[in-house]
Amino acid sequence: MEILRKSRHEAQAAVLDDYPSTCASFSWEEARGWLDGLPDGGGLNIAHEAVDRHAAGEAGERIAIRWLGKSGTRREIRYRELAELSSRFANVLETLGMARGAGVFLLAGRIPELYLAVLGALKQGAVVTPLFSAFGPEPIATRMTLGEGRVLVTTTSLYRRKVAPIRDRLPSLEHVLVVRDDDFEALPEGTRELAPLLEAAASDYTIPATDPETPALLHFTSGTTGKPKGALHVHQAVVAHHATARFALDLRADDVFWCTADPGWVTGTSYGIIAPLSLGATLVIDEAEFDAERWYQILEREAVSVWYTAPTAVRMMMKGGSARARAGNYPALRFIASVGEPLNPQAVHWGMEAFGLPIHDNWWQTETGGIMIANFASMDIRPGAMGKPLPGIEAAVLRRLPDGGVAPVEHVDDEGELALRVGWPSMFRTYLHEEERYRRCFVGDWYLTGDLARRDHDGYFWFVGRADDMIKSAGHLIGPFEVESALMEHPAVAEVGVIGKPDPVIGEIVKAFVALKPGHEPDEALRRELLGFARKRLGPAVAPKEIDIQPSLPRTRSGKIMRRLLKARELGLPEGDISTLETPR
Ligand code: ATP
Ligand code: MG
Repeated sequence: MEILRKSRHEAQAAVLDDYPSTCASFSWEEARGWLDGLPDGGGLNIAHEAVDRHAAGEAGERIAIRWLGKSGTRREIRYRELAELSSRFANVLETLGMARGAGVFLLAGRIPELYLAVLGALKQGAVVTPLFSAFGPEPIATRMTLGEGRVLVTTTSLYRRKVAPIRDRLPSLEHVLVVRDDDFEALPEGTRELAPLLEAAASDYTIPATDPETPALLHFTSGTTGKPKGALHVHQAVVAHHATARFALDLRADDVFWCTADPGWVTGTSYGIIAPLSLGATLVIDEAEFDAERWYQILEREAVSVWYTAPTAVRMMMKGGSARARAGNYPALRFIASVGEPLNPQAVHWGMEAFGLPIHDNWWQTETGGIMIANFASMDIRPGAMGKPLPGIEAAVLRRLPDGGVAPVEHVDDEGELALRVGWPSMFRTYLHEEERYRRCFVGDWYLTGDLARRDHDGYFWFVGRADDMIKSAGHLIGPFEVESALMEHPAVAEVGVIGKPDPVIGEIVKAFVALKPGHEPDEALRRELLGFARKRLGPAVAPKEIDIQPSLPRTRSGKIMRRLLKARELGLPEGDISTLETPR
């Protein structure tokens, strides 16, 4: 079994140097003690832990956010200033008469106002939902309806294009606060400008007592397997955000941390806002969309020390080879992690080639609110494995029993459903307005994740596929990830999505959709070569029988290949909910 050497992690929280004993002694109560809590036993509030507790004295002078605008502008926001700005926003909500628990939605690019509004709304006790700014009117309408949004923070141009056409379908929406980003002098009808409201509001705000179980964030899932679900999280989730960032990202107060995810996706909030701030680190925020050259420059110029990204971004950078990466100089960079999709072993190796650091895969979901399984800094990583459960997390590979119960799979390395024992702080509390669906996720005190995995005899978990994506071919159960990873090893391949295509004889055949790296011709010769290549690596039972070369593959906005869409298109079926689809057809 291949094992890569550890990352540079000079001062990894000593707790993890001995993983088994940390797991044995760790408790979530202990982690809660790493945070402050509101004064006078006032409970626990995410924004207090993220911002206010760092705002006083010298700590307040540290940079909380280093914002890089699209057009080259920069803005640095110190903790003290972020505390004031978010307090102003909380006061704005009070002035608008918002009761605790009101739905506050954000629809904006990664502009500073988005961050101060999220934090301010959390202070005030609102339930916050950041949406992807690239969403069209329909996905905005369905999500705002489900979450009963009463306040929307957006920009003038986004409002005009996307919200005005659906405004009359949003009866619960009372206030639209806009940031100007176009040249019209008049504000869109029915909106108010945010800047003067902030200006007029007081810069101090006393966070009301917040029970740790108070709803805080409503996050929609990526919609990879179907209609997105609204997962509701509570304030005590911050305990998990904070602890898991220490454990799985090796994050500390002196880090410059860059999480490339947009807050419209749970990663961009749990780790793109809350966790790094709760640790007192400096958060790099890039307003621009992905651009490989720009990203290398950010890593280099901003002296990023911990970088959290996703397989889709890594694959896009890999397309250009590793020479560009090696030409850069990243003395500060000491830890790279990835989440969202399986990280092909190829990508882990590319990290070594490009940065001299492996990429540490970790696994979690919108529902879990925080990282659950990871290749820790302090352990040898196994390319292709998701790692081991974090302290405080009990994970298991289960099989379903005929009586509706579950039991562990019989042998090490057997595939089964990945399950987590309930009880960690960032666990979702419901799928909003879908109670029944929520209940169906549990058997006894196990939460069943819908993903299939196996555990090796050293305790590493390996992703096999989503339960929905498994392929049954001639009596074999084939996980798409294995096939995709094998094809990724071919030098011409940039991306792969594998599906099962119904076949009258063998049930399903394995079909792969492939996108190529620049400079490769999508011709018949290459197609045949890929078929042969996969066959040699995987054997005839598992290798794809058909390969289709496409210019690009359909992806969710959080960067996941949408296999269900590849399948629907292949079979000429309705496309289903494609509200989160990124690549235009
Ligand atoms: P939906 O639930 O709407 O279909 P989704 O499951 O993609 O969408 P997210 O909550 O954003 O929504 O993604 C979580 C899922 O992403 C996991 O259940 C898993 O399938 C996949 N995933 C995340 N990290 C990893 C990883 N490191 N390796 C493999 N798969 C991963
Ligand atoms: Mg899911």
